[in-house]
Amino acid sequence: MDLSSHDLFQRSLKVAPGGVHSPVRSFQSVGGNPIFFERSKGAYLWDVEGKRYIDFCQSFGPLLFGHRDPEIQEIVLDTIERTWTLGACEPYSLELAEFIIQHIPWVEKIRFVNSGTEAVMSALRVARAATGRAKVLKFEGCYHGHLDSLLVKAGSGLAGESASDSAGIPKELIQNTFVLSLDEEDELEEFFSEHGTEIAAIAIEPLPANYGLLPQRKSFLQKLRSLATKFGCVLIFDEVITGFRIGFTGMSGRLGISPDLVCYGKIIGGGFPVGAYAGKASLMDLVSPSGKVYQAGTLSANPIGMRAGLKTLQKAFLENPYSALSIQTETWSNELVKSLNETSEFTWKTQSLDSLFWLVRESGKEIRKISEIPSSLQDDFKTIFHPLLQKGVYLPPSPYEVGFLSTAHTKEILDETISLVKTLL
Ligand SMILES: *Cc1c(COP(=O)(O)O)cnc(C)c1O
Repeated sequence: MDLSSHDLFQRSLKVAPGGVHSPVRSFQSVGGNPIFFERSKGAYLWDVEGKRYIDFCQSFGPLLFGHRDPEIQEIVLDTIERTWTLGACEPYSLELAEFIIQHIPWVEKIRFVNSGTEAVMSALRVARAATGRAKVLKFEGCYHGHLDSLLVKAGSGLAGESASDSAGIPKELIQNTFVLSLDEEDELEEFFSEHGTEIAAIAIEPLPANYGLLPQRKSFLQKLRSLATKFGCVLIFDEVITGFRIGFTGMSGRLGISPDLVCYGKIIGGGFPVGAYAGKASLMDLVSPSGKVYQAGTLSANPIGMRAGLKTLQKAFLENPYSALSIQTETWSNELVKSLNETSEFTWKTQSLDSLFWLVRESGKEIRKISEIPSSLQDDFKTIFHPLLQKGVYLPPSPYEVGFLSTAHTKEILDETISLVKTLL
């Protein structure tokens, strides 16, 4: 068997679209051949040729404790010995649900699904059922998974004139989706005075982290909360990336703003395919079989994901790694940028929050919406991505994806990264 990444990719191109099963993995936005990894542990990845990388992508977010944390692994192995899947009632999802409900005040009831996409799709359905309205509002630069109705970008014209972000989505499926800019309170007010009573749901990432890291002003999110209440719309916080990562209670807890429904994914499954939508009992009770909103899943609440997720959340709650991770991420990413700037032709900076960081060219101010992102970012990023990769430092393979630290990124490993960057000089 041939074990070079190059050859494996050539073979993959023949059997999967673009050679991959999720687009960013193809390296399309950084160019070159994607690396094929075969093993992971803690902060490290090993490719099929045996080369080791320090991993700052961490599977795009599920791994707060790094790859194959020993305590989580123990639970996973124990579960595999008991069952793989039951398709019936079991205690594991109950324990995870109770743990979350006990610690997250705005979660009264929860339903587990298999991905973040499913969670958001289902939450929207609940919001539409609850309000009897069809229209939803989202924000430019926020990603909510690949469901048709939210795979839209702002059109050239007015809100409501949205354009699909993907082929294969008829305009009929997105005509109920409005897209507004982040960080524009006046525009938001105006929009609601015109359309407020038509809106079923406002969906937002309370910390947009899928088009770079775009921290929002608290007042903007507070305005969303008060407009949702005033106009009777369901406020959906998509915390798929931020849930249990920006502190245990996510961005909602950090800001002290309670959504009506919240979506989880990534960390909630501890590295296994789990998503969830949750929130007020009055809304969640609309879901089948207690209510008329149909939603189901053959592998939903899979025992392995439930137990890996519970162990991850228990560790996160008890060990409370958040403030240490936050300081470490800020300190280290600033050091990284400083070292990069000694070798790079432009000035980089980092925008970070807790264990998320994003590298972007310095523009003199905090970037909060996509119109503020330097247009050269993609080209800029290519100039650092490949040299770092060569040195064994793996950043997410796209300038628009955020990087992740985990508790497995020890000071020694982080210092090693900086030394490796210095050898680029
Ligand atoms: C990753 C992500 C999703 C999609 O989750 P999948 O599990 O990839 O379907 C949705 N919303 C946000 C904010 C995400 O970060």
